[in-house]
Amino acid sequence: MYDGDIASVLITEDQINEKIAELAKQVGGDYPGGGADLVLVGVLKGAVMFMTDLARALPVPVQLEFMAVTSYGSATSSSGVVRILKDLDRDIAGRDVLIVEDIIDSGLTLSWLLKNLASRGPRSLEVCTLLRKPDAVKVDVPVRYVGFEIPNEFVVGYGLDFAERYRDLPYIGTLDPRVYTS
Ligand code: 5GP
Ligand code: MG
Ligand code: MG
Repeated sequence: MYDGDIASVLITEDQINEKIAELAKQVGGDYPGGGADLVLVGVLKGAVMFMTDLARALPVPVQLEFMAVTSYGSATSSSGVVRILKDLDRDIAGRDVLIVEDIIDSGLTLSWLLKNLASRGPRSLEVCTLLRKPDAVKVDVPVRYVGFEIPNEFVVGYGLDFAERYRDLPYIGTLDPRVYTS
């Protein structure tokens, strides 16, 4: 698949699965259940693979909600000015909410999302991201769960795209520069 487009595999399918098991254990311990179900808020489309695998690995019942947002900026970096394309289907007031993200780069999108969701009065609001890049430290966003810290390279696979391609790869890799320039 995608012959020759992937320059290197950064995180293998096995490594992703191991990490999800670890994160699920951690999250499960922090939300013992008993009250209303934890609400996972996935940010479309990048977080879909991670969200569905995490949901199945979690030892507590969860409800799935999705949001789609667009940030004004170039294709590979965001400006922090965000517009909602698809909002949550349900009210999250009084609920435990966990935002599920694919990757935090500048952190601007997430910073906006946290403020937006916090204003709806959830009981608690935390973030779980599969990947985090070094620039994320520049914006002060509290991220409780991080899968992998990765170098400042453009990655694809496991939900992450370049021009809507490569989301279906089961691993995370870097793109051959030929792909950007052809
Ligand atoms: P930021 O944290 O800069 O506001 O933006 C995060 C979003 O930018 C991610 O949800 C993702 O859509 C995109 N993004 C950032 N870094 C990468 C990357 O290395 N690969 C891909 N495919 N998307 C990225
Ligand atoms: Mg995202
Ligand atoms: Mg994208």
